[in-house]
Amino acid sequence: MPGQKNTGGHVREVYLDYNASAPLDPRVFEAMAPVLAGEVGNASSVHRFGRRQAAAVDEARQHVAGLVGGRPAGVVFTAGATEANNLALRGAAEAAPEDRPRMLVSAVEHASVARTARWLSDSGVVKLDVIGVTPGGFVDPAAVEELLGPDVLLVSVMAANSETGVLNPVGEIAERVRAAGAMFHCDATQMAGRTPFDMAAMGADLVSVSGHKICGPGGVGALVGTRHALTRLSPLIHGGGHERGLRSGSLNVAGIAGLGAASRIAADERESESARVGVLRDRLVDELDSRLADVHQNGDASRRLPNTANIRFEGADAEAVMSNMDPVAVSTGSACSAGSIEPSGVLVAMGLSHEAAFESVRFSLGRFTTEIEIDAAIRAVADAVERVRSMA
Ligand code: PMP
Repeated sequence: MPGQKNTGGHVREVYLDYNASAPLDPRVFEAMAPVLAGEVGNASSVHRFGRRQAAAVDEARQHVAGLVGGRPAGVVFTAGATEANNLALRGAAEAAPEDRPRMLVSAVEHASVARTARWLSDSGVVKLDVIGVTPGGFVDPAAVEELLGPDVLLVSVMAANSETGVLNPVGEIAERVRAAGAMFHCDATQMAGRTPFDMAAMGADLVSVSGHKICGPGGVGALVGTRHALTRLSPLIHGGGHERGLRSGSLNVAGIAGLGAASRIAADERESESARVGVLRDRLVDELDSRLADVHQNGDASRRLPNTANIRFEGADAEAVMSNMDPVAVSTGSACSAGSIEPSGVLVAMGLSHEAAFESVRFSLGRFTTEIEIDAAIRAVADAVERVRSMA
């Protein structure tokens, strides 16, 4: 990984928490550095300095649109996927016609969708229904169909789950949502950089992405929308009317250039990268399974991101396992709920007991993960689980 020195067979530290935040690709840094250090001007200014900034933003718009199969003019830059998700849900709810008061969100959404929807419902702005998931962790399109009606404004179902990597059948869901005349929002934060994603072919209206999940910078992301969907949103941030009036504020040009470069690289390399990373992930899972007893994978392994494995080590508390496997960094549940004593809501929604959820660890690999790191991780994890089990 950039900045790490795991060379010559010696492994200092192993980062297996890409779903929380992926390291910045040096090529992305190269694209950002001149904008940060060598350029000046507001992208809205008409002088040559401003126009150069605007050109960098326009180029990034093309790449971000390309990553998700959207239109460059439909890209609204935000401060990350949390803001993009808020803009989709709150923006739609505030501009909703009276005859569409309902919103549907899946039970395994990231907090930036789940809590926004809950807040809108608690505030009386929408009537919320939560779509349950199968034991495999995905949304069954029939479950969406059952809840849909002519009074539904928006449905939000993520493309890939951050904790389990499980993929949702978003194309089939989008088709049903569109037939009901509702908008379909898809949080593609974890999927867009890893597997092909085409919002136009799929029929999604609004799609969220984030820089730091695709080896780009943190604090920058985008909501990509169809022309029609964007006209149905109210802005969260008012001001000078940037980004089609949907997100005012002078643009973060270096961050946006970084998001653009990261999107371009991801679109070019995601298939080959995923093939390589998938082999490493499978090796990790298979080796842990053969070295240890009572190892269970959470989530349907036949339909998940190639970089993610969520594993339950029966009889071993995940926090204890994690603190015994230094210098291998993983996570239990999503980082956003780390430190809380609640079990992962995603695993519970899939039907796991609290005890099972507390025994589950998420491994997420990525672009810079190497074979020697995986071998070191296998040893460290197996030792940690055995140590924790022997103390129980
Ligand atoms: N959605 C998903 C699925 C995520 O995994 C995350 C990051 N944990 C977010 C949204 C939030 O992204 P950001 O950090 O860019 O706000």
